[in-house]
Amino acid sequence: MNYIIFDLEWNQCPRGPEFENPRIPFEIIEIGAVKLNDSFEIVDEFSSIVKPRIYKYLHNHVRQMLNYDETYLRTGRPFDMVCRDFMKWCGADYVFGTWGTGDLVQLQKNMDYYYMNKFSEPFKYYNIQSIFAEYYEDLGSCKLEKAVAALNLPIEEEFHTAINDARYTALVFQKLSKKHLNDQYSYDCYHEPKDKESEIHAFHRTYSEHISRGFEQRAEIMEDKDINSFRCYKCKRKISKKIKWFSYNPSSFVSVGHCWYHGYQKGVIKIKTSNSGKLFTIKKITPITKSEVEDIRTRQAELREKRREKRKKH
Ligand SMILES: [Zn+2]
Repeated sequence: MNYIIFDLEWNQCPRGPEFENPRIPFEIIEIGAVKLNDSFEIVDEFSSIVKPRIYKYLHNHVRQMLNYDETYLRTGRPFDMVCRDFMKWCGADYVFGTWGTGDLVQLQKNMDYYYMNKFSEPFKYYNIQSIFAEYYEDLGSCKLEKAVAALNLPIEEEFHTAINDARYTALVFQKLSKKHLNDQYSYDCYHEPKDKESEIHAFHRTYSEHISRGFEQRAEIMEDKDINSFRCYKCKRKISKKIKWFSYNPSSFVSVGHCWYHGYQKGVIKIKTSNSGKLFTIKKITPITKSEVEDIRTRQAELREKRREKRKKH
């Protein structure tokens, strides 16, 4: 299996959001990618400029960041051609890696615009920004430039061309490959799981996750047994809830469970809206300490008190 580490540059409506095309608020103008084999060796590169069709002039913010302008973009090829070449170049057996979550969203949004999106369900990929953040807690979810500097990687080319950023991201990925990388994949959720059978139940080394199918009604969500169940992230046994699901805010719920063998665990359910407009959930279960349990209990009591006061006022 190969790793495809890619980066995109995109433009937006230069006249402001009120004039944008809502089907494609961000138009891709460059695709850059690096292919690594399963030993994390760089084996190939892909780089192509896209001739814009929707927004022919650059937005000011984009212009300031890029190292090229419209004249250069006019030498590119249309998106559908470039994207078809790119997908062909990726091959049959690969997994994507990107810096953050944005590139996979924009790639699919642009593919949708040209009715060429072949992805229809969540798929595994590596969010290299979040993997880096886990090992370099002091830097957190930082910019690619900071990560490259922190790892003492040589900076020879400018940032903010797709191919250069893809190269830097690939180098960061190579460095991180010495860690437990196999376990650190994420799921792209541009499309939610289509039905119950395709829902995702993933058990990682340090947490477990469940991604639900889509729902039309908010009220149905917390009634679903797979969503409201609490299983140990490690032994997968159903465990007792020490604190039942309660809402932190309208789109997230928290609960605490206890496994006789693997201790206290926190469950977090986030309600998200998919690209099709349906509601789906991502549940994560992670181990926590006894004092974190107390913090959650305190938070729950505070929220209850707040709601009680609110009700009194009405
Ligand atoms: Zn357990």
